[in-house]
Amino acid sequence: MEQISVFDIIKIGIGPSSSHTMGPWKAAQLSLQEALQDGWFAAIQRVRVELLGSLAKTGKGHGTDIAVILGLNGEDHTTIDTNEIGEKVRIIKSTAALNLAGQKPLPFDADKDLIFNFRESLDFHPNGMRFRYELADGQVIEQTYFSIGGGFVLKADEEPARDARRLPYPCQSGADLAAHCQKKNSTISEIVFENEKTWRSEAAIHEELDLIWQAMIACVYRGCHTQGILPGGLNVRRRAAGLNAKLFDGAQYHSIATWLDALVAARPVFHETLKWVSCIAIAANEENASFGRIVTAPTNGASGVLPAVLFYFYCFCKRRATMEDVRRFLLVAGEFGSIFKKGATISGALGGCQAEIGVSSAMAAGALTECLGGSVGQALMAAEIAMEHHLGLTCDPVAGLVQIPCIERNSMGAIKAITAANIALESDPAEAKVSLDSIIGTMWATAQDMHSKYKETSEGGLAVHVPVNVVDC
Ligand code: SF4
Repeated sequence: MEQISVFDIIKIGIGPSSSHTMGPWKAAQLSLQEALQDGWFAAIQRVRVELLGSLAKTGKGHGTDIAVILGLNGEDHTTIDTNEIGEKVRIIKSTAALNLAGQKPLPFDADKDLIFNFRESLDFHPNGMRFRYELADGQVIEQTYFSIGGGFVLKADEEPARDARRLPYPCQSGADLAAHCQKKNSTISEIVFENEKTWRSEAAIHEELDLIWQAMIACVYRGCHTQGILPGGLNVRRRAAGLNAKLFDGAQYHSIATWLDALVAARPVFHETLKWVSCIAIAANEENASFGRIVTAPTNGASGVLPAVLFYFYCFCKRRATMEDVRRFLLVAGEFGSIFKKGATISGALGGCQAEIGVSSAMAAGALTECLGGSVGQALMAAEIAMEHHLGLTCDPVAGLVQIPCIERNSMGAIKAITAANIALESDPAEAKVSLDSIIGTMWATAQDMHSKYKETSEGGLAVHVPVNVVDC
């Protein structure tokens, strides 16, 4: 049984895409690690990278080229100063040279050595990439990697490394999770916490969860206070800052902490609450679209849903929830994301947007339900309802940028999650006709039936029906 930690599903990352930015970045790092370990790094004379399938078709808009260049240059996407990305890439391109793995100066002409191959897509997964290294003795070493969604990466013909440790409560499905909870008379978050102790100490789990929450707050705050036009040439104006200012209507604050205090004190009426949820989802995803520091959950395109629902819970349901509440929320959300990954996919290139916004909405719905006092059955039911109403959702980003429809779609996913939780909290799960596992199976079958033009290729839907004028910038 595949073992996935909550911290593999919810993690601090960088925009705009987990599969098209973070995955290829990581693949470049892994590829060079192999060169170092196997002793042929010093002999490298040239490296060429080929992006295939969806990585070629929407790679420009998703910053795949930038990610590969920085990965080859030895930068780490978890620590790089996001303000320096533009300048670093500009220097590499203008000098036609990079510092391979941060250790070895190497000529690299991005126009010739980074190839967008629009004609070829590999069978295993549409997000394939080839690294081709030419060595001093004339030898050529080729490696193929796949970015399989959510920042996860696999090397071709290589079995994914199996974690030999056994979790106390292994879960492949919603039914497994429910059975463990029933047997131990535990909540979902308690079961997940016990599993996480396989990998980390209790203190380390708390610390990582707290870091994720702090990263979410910082991301949303930046999004709520940054004006201007998003990069990429679509000329999309950022909206969260205007919404934040309008909703606060002159409220005074001077730091992240006092801004959060003001939000907790806001006590909005119903339609303002809806606007706040949208504002937070949009703020996080505008940061994502700007190569900002975000929290991947389970992907970057969907990185606004979880913060929006968690802020809703923290600020408006609990009037400042405790850190214990926040941790419970993240643990439950992460577990639902992992069950969807095991039973279906979290990759837009494999399953369309139901696999991204749909899964994030289901994660948030289940988490909110437990945090609002719902039973295990109600939390599963909420996750099921949220996905049921995202089934068939296509991925058709205009100009291949994670902006239209992605940014607003985060708001929709968050609102649906809140509605799903509210329906579940007023329902008897024993009477539910659709189980979480059957909706996961349905989603996977729908993913397989979906035409490739709706799976992150920008060859269908909005991507071809919206006339756009992309200005190169
Ligand atoms: S449409 Fe959905 S799946 Fe596609 S890039 Fe946007 S958020 Fe991701």
